[in-house]
Amino acid sequence: MEQILCVYCGDLFDASPRHKNQIACKKAECQKAKKADWQRHKMKIDPINNANQKISQKEWVRANPGYWKNTAGTIPKKRNGIESFKPSETERPGLPIWMQRWIRC
Ligand SMILES: [Zn+2]
Repeated sequence: MEQILCVYCGDLFDASPRHKNQIACKKAECQKAKKADWQRHKMKIDPINNANQKISQKEWVRANPGYWKNTAGTIPKKRNGIESFKPSETERPGLPIWMQRWIRC
């Protein structure tokens, strides 16, 4: 059986064939940490999805100036609009690797 490294405690654990992209082992503390991270992640990501539907990204970015600070320098310079400002679905340079892996699942 494939073994995966838990991102919270660093222990190896058996991967369940039914659950792809596992990042945490079965320990209660790791599951709790995973849940907390997921909620933080959701709070950070959801406003973008909502913003894409309700207001223009430009307005959203103006209202959330801190969001892009970790990605400064990795986003191409704007040319004539906001389209080049949006990172691709699989590339979110501001997020940790394990979280990018999570988003793709
Ligand atoms: Zn663990």
